[in-house]
Amino acid sequence: MTIGIALSKGRILEETAPLLARVGIRPKDHPERTRKLVVETERPGVRLIIVRASDAPTYVQYGAADLGIAGKDVLREHGGTGLYQPLDLGIAACRMMVAVRKDFDYEAAVRQGARLRIATKYVQVTREHFAAKGVHVDPIRLYGSMELAPLVGLADAIVDLVSTGNTLRANNLVPVEEIMPVSARLIVNQAALKMKRAQLQPLIEAFGEAARRAR
Ligand code: AMP
Repeated sequence: MTIGIALSKGRILEETAPLLARVGIRPKDHPERTRKLVVETERPGVRLIIVRASDAPTYVQYGAADLGIAGKDVLREHGGTGLYQPLDLGIAACRMMVAVRKDFDYEAAVRQGARLRIATKYVQVTREHFAAKGVHVDPIRLYGSMELAPLVGLADAIVDLVSTGNTLRANNLVPVEEIMPVSARLIVNQAALKMKRAQLQPLIEAFGEAARRAR
């Protein structure tokens, strides 16, 4: 039985490649350069399935991939149905933050019970976060460059990932609240774990070992 691992190009692939190599999974085509979306590896019976970061949980949920790697941001937004999340790989670490324009008094707006417009691709997480605080929000779904929205009057605030803070600073935005720390997790299709346990269990253990050594 073939094992498929759903991975996204960019940060996750870059930071996962050394972990994969340690468990003997070396892609036969360079995933960043090839246009192939299914990439065979040197580990027999294991292939990489190249997906958009936000699609990784969906491929694994439906069993189109047995394993995957996804950020906690994407997993929270997806909801995690049908997924087993055995390992925090500790990679692609950042924080999900609320940020506003430097001249926007966030504390005062919250105190006064203002209804806030929040631009984000994490609509679900945003709703849950502000509902728990009792703050009314209108999330506005964007697909990229959230930082632009407060600058041109589309939103009062954004919910986005912050790593160095350079993108916020370059756009005169300041972080005002942390929603959660984020890092990439190994995800496993729950049914596949039962059906293909003999093949998956050693891989999961190897990922755990590689992640521990990488720390
Ligand atoms: P920075 O300027 O280093 O704070 O990075 C912020 C930009 O990179 C924002 O556009 C974020 O959406 C994106 N970003 C930061 N960390 C991550 C991550 N771990 N995964 C995906 N995108 C990230």
